[in-house]
Amino acid sequence: MHQFATEERRVLDEVSAWVAGRLTEPGRLEPGSPVELPGLTCEGIGIDAAWSLLRDTLLPTTFPADHPRYLAFVGGAPTAASVIADAALSAAAVYGGSELEAGAVVAAERTALRWLCDAVGYPAAAHGTFVSGGTVANLSALVTARHARTEPGAAVPHVIVAGAAAHSSIRSAAAIMGCTVRTAGSPDLPLRADELRTVLADLDPATVVAVVASAGATNTGAVDDLDDIAALCAEHGTWLHVDAAYGGAAVLVPAWRSTFTGLDRADSITIDPHKWLFTPFDCGAVLYRDPTLARAAHRQHADYLEPVNDEGVDNPADYAIHLTRRARGLPVWASLMANGTEAYVRAIEQCLATADHAAKRIEDSAHLELVGERHLSVVLFRRRGWTLDRYAAWSERARRSGLALVTPTSFAGEPVLRLCFVNPLTSTDDVDLVLDSLESDAAAQ
Ligand SMILES: *Cc1c(COP(=O)(O)O)cnc(C)c1O
Repeated sequence: MHQFATEERRVLDEVSAWVAGRLTEPGRLEPGSPVELPGLTCEGIGIDAAWSLLRDTLLPTTFPADHPRYLAFVGGAPTAASVIADAALSAAAVYGGSELEAGAVVAAERTALRWLCDAVGYPAAAHGTFVSGGTVANLSALVTARHARTEPGAAVPHVIVAGAAAHSSIRSAAAIMGCTVRTAGSPDLPLRADELRTVLADLDPATVVAVVASAGATNTGAVDDLDDIAALCAEHGTWLHVDAAYGGAAVLVPAWRSTFTGLDRADSITIDPHKWLFTPFDCGAVLYRDPTLARAAHRQHADYLEPVNDEGVDNPADYAIHLTRRARGLPVWASLMANGTEAYVRAIEQCLATADHAAKRIEDSAHLELVGERHLSVVLFRRRGWTLDRYAAWSERARRSGLALVTPTSFAGEPVLRLCFVNPLTSTDDVDLVLDSLESDAAAQ
C-alpha cells in the first residue's frame, strides 16, 4: 500500500464532482445490462481504472433508492448534508464504539438520539444507539427484553408475541434467539388490544419475552392501537417493543401525533433514519425507555476493554449487538444541524401530501381503486380486473423503461399495487406519470 498519491488526489476531485452531480440529479432508474467484472490482479489496476469501473460499470446497474419514482418497498432520500458528513466520517476513521475514541462524535449522536427520544415522547433518561438498520435494532431490543425479564435461577422466557403484520425481522430475531413467535390479529389491519389479550391469556407470563407492535407496518403502513396495547402489557408485566422502523418519522408531524398515542409507553422502539429521516444507508436506531437494561444485556467485557468501560461513560457499543461500529448517527446529526428540525417536519408532511394526491387520483379513476384503509404514506390499490400476471408484467415494463420502481404485493389475499412515499422530491407529476401509465396500459388490456 502506498501513501495518498497524485492519481488519488485527481480521482478524489472527480469523485467530489460526481457526488455533487448525483446530489443535484437523481441517478437513472432503468438498470444497465448485467456486467462482467474483471478479476482481481496481483498488481492492481490503479485507482483511476477502479473508479472508472465503479462509476461507469457498477453503479449504473443499481436502483437509486432516492429516485423520485422509486416507490416500491421503502426507499430513502438522504439529504446532501447527511451524504457529505457520511463521506467525511469514512475518511476520519472514527471508531464509534466508545466515547474514549469517538470523542464529541458520541455527543453529536446523543443529540440526534435525544431528538428522536423527544419525538416519541420518551423521558430524559431514555437513550439508545444507532445500528445498521431495523433488523439489528429489533434483535437488540428483544435481547434486552429477554435479559431484563430473566429472573436468576428461573427458566428463560422464550415466546415473542407479535402482531400478524410484524416485520419479517421479528421472526429472524426469534430464530436467532431460539424463541417461538405467537401472532395476534390480522396482517392487513392494525393490531387491537383485545386480539392481543386472547393470545396472552393462553400463555404463562413468565415465558413471554416481549410483545411486538408496529407503528407503520411495512406492507400497509398500519399503526397498531399502541395506547391500549401498552396498557395491556403493563397489566401483564410484559415488555412492549414498538417497531416504528418506517412509520416512526410521522410522529414528528403534529397532525399525525395522536395516531401514535401510547408510543411513549413502549419499553423499546425501533426507528430507521435511513427510511423516512433522510439519511444514507445504513442507519437504524434503537431507543430504550431505561437504557441501563440495554447496557446490562449488551456491554461486552474483556480485559483489554475495561479501560473504555468506566461507569459513567456513554459507549454506543453498549446498547446493541455490535462493538466496532460506524458512528452512523453523525450524518443524522449533521443534517439536523444544517437543515434544522423544522425542515424534517416539512419534508415528512410533503411525503404525506403526495400520498394523499395519489389516493385522490386513484379514487377519481375509472380503472383504479383504493384497497383497505389508508395509513401514513403507503397507498394500496388495484387495477380493476387485473391478475398478478398483469401487475407483474406492467411492473417489469415500468422498471425496464425507467418509468418507475413499483412492485406488486398482496392485501387480504389479493394481489395489489403498493406505493410508499418517503421522498419529498417525489412530485404530483411523478405520481401522475405512474398512474397514467397504469390507466392506459394497452399491452395488458
Ligand atoms: C424495514 C423495516 C425493518 C427492517 O429494517 P432494515 O433497516 O431493513 O433492517 C423492520 N421493521 C419494519 C417495520 C420495517 O419497515
